[in-house]
Amino acid sequence: MRESAEIVSKTLGMLAKEIKPGVKTIHLDQLAESFIRDHRAEPGFLGLYDFPNTLCVSPNEQVVHGIPNDQPLEDGDILSVDCGALKNGFYGDHAYTFEVGEVTEAKKKLLEVTKNSLYIGIEAFCYGNRVGDIGHAIQTYTESFGYGVVRELVGHGLGKTMHEPPEIPNYGKRGRGKKFINGMVIAIEPMINQGTKNIRHFRDGWTIKTADNLPSAHFEHNVALINGKPQLLSTFDYIYEALGIKSDEEIPFKIFTSKA
Ligand code: MG
Ligand code: MG
Repeated sequence: MRESAEIVSKTLGMLAKEIKPGVKTIHLDQLAESFIRDHRAEPGFLGLYDFPNTLCVSPNEQVVHGIPNDQPLEDGDILSVDCGALKNGFYGDHAYTFEVGEVTEAKKKLLEVTKNSLYIGIEAFCYGNRVGDIGHAIQTYTESFGYGVVRELVGHGLGKTMHEPPEIPNYGKRGRGKKFINGMVIAIEPMINQGTKNIRHFRDGWTIKTADNLPSAHFEHNVALINGKPQLLSTFDYIYEALGIKSDEEIPFKIFTSKA
């Protein structure tokens, strides 16, 4: 699973350099598909529930599940890129919301808070805690900024299939739900809206957007519970390397990580 997570992490790192104004998301999709196949893995989303592409690309008010197209990205957009890969029979599933050119302070804040909430959620994935502890942590933090937590879409267990039990909502009550045990691997993925938590479905059957058309952000990591502590399988290191960002946010969750 570490290998699968590594491939999706590298794929997003490769895309980080390509995401800029004027670029079409279908181009990003083609790059990602070739990159994953070059690493002797399969795109995880392509054909899954009949999804037509390798990436889910969701700009601005789109929450998740946007379909790549030939509309150029614009300066000031934010773009959620969600990527899956299948290697050795196991899935990786990883997402990051990128800034396209110069974005507003309001969008920057939404990205910062949503990414922070991902790590706050990861901290709650420890031995003795339950599913509701993650949701409660993410919800409490993000709602304190007046943001909306999407209810209809959730994180999930991850393994030989892309979506396994338990569901990991980004809202919830402390101490409720399934108890975490060593060896579990889950995808934690806050989807946080600047305004209302409510969403709408596009007629394409896939794309989901905010009901008030305000922006939405999405970050996703794959995390294993090892010796009672959350350990990252995926990493944003390749993205940060590409963008020249210095960050120590992942260090607490890499204690048991043996990097090849
Ligand atoms: Mg995903
Ligand atoms: Mg996922």
